[in-house]
Amino acid sequence: MQRFNPEQAMCKARREFGEHGGVTPSISRSSTFTVIDPHTMPEIFAGLRGPDKGGCFLYSRHFNPTLDTLARYLSAMEGTEHAVCTASGMSAIACTLLQLCKAGDHIVSSDTIYGGTHALLGELLPQMNIQTTFVDPQNSSAFESAITENTRVIYTETIGNPTLKIADIPKLADIAHQRGIKLVVDNTFSPMLITPELLGADVTVHSLTKFINGGSDMIGGAICASKAFILELMDLHFGRVMLLGPTLDPRGAFDVIQRLPHLGIRMKEHGRRALAIAEELHGMGAPVAYPGLPNHPRHELLKFMVNKGFGYGGMLTIDCKTREKAEQLMSVLQNKERFGLIAVSLGYSDTLMSCSGSSTSSEIPPEDQEKIGISPGLLRLSIGYTGSLSERIEQIKRAVRFVGIV
Ligand SMILES: *Cc1c(COP(=O)(O)O)cnc(C)c1O
Repeated sequence: MQRFNPEQAMCKARREFGEHGGVTPSISRSSTFTVIDPHTMPEIFAGLRGPDKGGCFLYSRHFNPTLDTLARYLSAMEGTEHAVCTASGMSAIACTLLQLCKAGDHIVSSDTIYGGTHALLGELLPQMNIQTTFVDPQNSSAFESAITENTRVIYTETIGNPTLKIADIPKLADIAHQRGIKLVVDNTFSPMLITPELLGADVTVHSLTKFINGGSDMIGGAICASKAFILELMDLHFGRVMLLGPTLDPRGAFDVIQRLPHLGIRMKEHGRRALAIAEELHGMGAPVAYPGLPNHPRHELLKFMVNKGFGYGGMLTIDCKTREKAEQLMSVLQNKERFGLIAVSLGYSDTLMSCSGSSTSSEIPPEDQEKIGISPGLLRLSIGYTGSLSERIEQIKRAVRFVGIV
């Protein structure tokens, strides 16, 4: 559909050099910053000076040069005016929702979301009198019907965790904007492939912990949105990022900056391999779900929404029906075939495998899990890019036959 190329956009935004002309940017670790003239300090507090107004920094929870660099690259990738980085994906989501909603407000959310987000919306926010109605992300009119006069936010993931259901972002944006509601989209599963902002989202949130960093060695998050919304989050009196304070460490931010140049290459390779493996599994009759397969119920919608050339993502599922079968398959894949690692999380160089119902989605009660299609044997795989692809295909085909899934 679109001509946007997030890889090129991010490349054009890269302009930082190290202090001594280094080809990598320097890490600014200082928590506080000096001013030459004491009159400058009240001007910074009054908002008359800042990083983009005379180059003055103050204190690193507010502005930090390394975090600002990362935020600029991420906002370029997401096609938004501005961004702010946070210490985790959860803090990015929580600060965004708390900025948009106050006590008495209501959220309509996809029911197919990360377990932590499901707990935040379904259990923690109700304690602050912010209620959520959960609906099927593939049924756009269910979002519409659930809206009340108190609804402030529609919340969804692009490719839902763990069942890989696809939300119709342009449709949800229309529904939201007709009623003055904000659309918040978690794009953690699909950086580069999907640009929610260009499809109508108001706020794009990320867990940097996953594909974007890609090294499974840090926790981080980001909020990409309009400049006005990011400044609201950083407001000295009411800003949820400023005052709840989930500040990302500059060293962690630097690590992410160093991995952004190969994010596009990684996403293409995760996607190329996931598609090849899904095709092979589908061909042998295994119960595989992958949004890049034409048999996925929303494959055509996804094809319409993606930026061309980045594939359909690195996530696939195999429904083993029972937890015992799923555990048996994971064990063979890890301990016999050396195909991947039994671990939560995703977006790593090696394949990571977990049984969602009893791990990252265990916050969702079993009866709701069944309703939203998380069977106890749903095995989620984040397909890595190590080893030879043909050998990987042989390994997983052997394992699936060995445990009797086909
Ligand atoms: C992991 C994840 C989160 C939470 O991110 P953290 O960095 O672990 O706080 C949110 N959304 C999705 C889709 C995730 O996979």
